Amino acid sequence: MSVDLFATPEHALFRTTVRKFVEEELAPRAREFDAMGKIDKSLYRRMGELGMLGLRYDPKWGGAGLDWSYSAAMFEEVVRCDNAGVTMGISVHTDMATPSLHEFGSDELKQRFLVPSIKGEMVSAIAVTEPDAGSDVSAIKTRAVRDGDTWVINGSKMYITNTATADWLCLLAVTDPEAGYGGFSQIIVPTDSPGFSYQLLDKIGNWGSDTGLLFFEDVRVPVANTIGDIGRGFQQQMMQFQDERLVGCVSANAGAEALWEKTRRYCEERIVFKRPLSKMQVTQFKFVEMLTQIAAAKELTYACVRKRVRGEDATKEISMAKLFSGRMCRYVADECIQLHGGFGYMKESAAGRAFVDTRLISIGGGADEVMIHYLAKMLGF
Ligand SMILES: Cc1cc2nc3c(=O)[nH]c(=O)nc-3n(C[C@H](O)[C@H](O)[C@H](O)COP(=O)(O)OP(=O)(O)OC[C@H]3O[C@@H](n4cnc5c(N)ncnc54)[C@H](O)[C@@H]3O)c2cc1C
Repeated sequence: MSVDLFATPEHALFRTTVRKFVEEELAPRAREFDAMGKIDKSLYRRMGELGMLGLRYDPKWGGAGLDWSYSAAMFEEVVRCDNAGVTMGISVHTDMATPSLHEFGSDELKQRFLVPSIKGEMVSAIAVTEPDAGSDVSAIKTRAVRDGDTWVINGSKMYITNTATADWLCLLAVTDPEAGYGGFSQIIVPTDSPGFSYQLLDKIGNWGSDTGLLFFEDVRVPVANTIGDIGRGFQQQMMQFQDERLVGCVSANAGAEALWEKTRRYCEERIVFKRPLSKMQVTQFKFVEMLTQIAAAKELTYACVRKRVRGEDATKEISMAKLFSGRMCRYVADECIQLHGGFGYMKESAAGRAFVDTRLISIGGGADEVMIHYLAKMLGF
């Protein structure tokens, strides 16, 4: 199914490179990264050397100049690192915090922040959500006030991935409270700026990523750090969310497929009432039902990828895919934990981890209800 998307020898070679990196350098340390709450920053340099961090970006800035099919192929491999938090941290850097900079940033900003980010010398984070505003992005309050050529930033951001790892933030701030949707700007804030601080948060899942609460107290950055035009931040962030959601779908689907395979192997070996669990018809039915849902989610996601490869808007399809993949991977995790019995409830079990990790997909980057709300609007209701 959908082999056409990944049909070239270049795709195969790229997958082999990523798979080797994941199998040799990420997967063996999966539980260590859980304990650290993040990965070694040096691994970003390694990913930079392998060309993994700027796949769709212009070669002028060090990118590979490829299309979304390569991003999809990459994350189908990265999820095999057996650590959803690690996958999330990497995807925040490649597909959630840097797309706006590549698309709208000035050459000077790209030179200072995008080039080192593609090399893996810098890591980024996306800072949109606030303690009092998540689903309704327009309700954010973090304020950037202009003082000559400088923005003075005050406020806070909540649940930000890559908090302790990031060298810079793609911050969404209010720059003109009177201007409605024209009153927001995306601003690059280096995390070594005086007045910036953070506090890490304790999550129920995705342990291999560092999520935190950020504070901005009179943080001063040049107005030249604005990505694109002042006042266009809301619209640019809505576009950036499309990449975020699509990479989330790819990862969710591939994670569910990997869990399905692991659970099948487990059920083939686990003896219950004198025969393998996989020999029971009810178990086989579960596997077939799950794989059907996984295949449907993948095809819907690939339809989005194809549209993006053709340079078409895929907002409607991506919203549907995010809704569907989020629900699908939660259902698969729930079935797989059940098939594992007591072992599924242990932290060392992939099913147990998936049970908490997948719960995020229907919340982060726009909750299910937000997707449905957008879709209803797009459908003219
Ligand atoms: C582990 C983790 C990592 C994250 N990483 C980042 C990050 O890197 N950067 C970042 O900016 N944010 C990040 N987030 C934040 C995430 O995007 C928000 O949590 C999410 O958008 C929901 O916002 P909220 O938590 O404020 O929930 P709220 O906005 O308070 O919504 C609560 C619930 O209300 C319901 N709801 C919302 N809108 C509607 C509606 N229109 N109709 C009916 N019901 C509705 C939904 O069920 C929703 O879950 C992360 C969150 C988590 C948990």
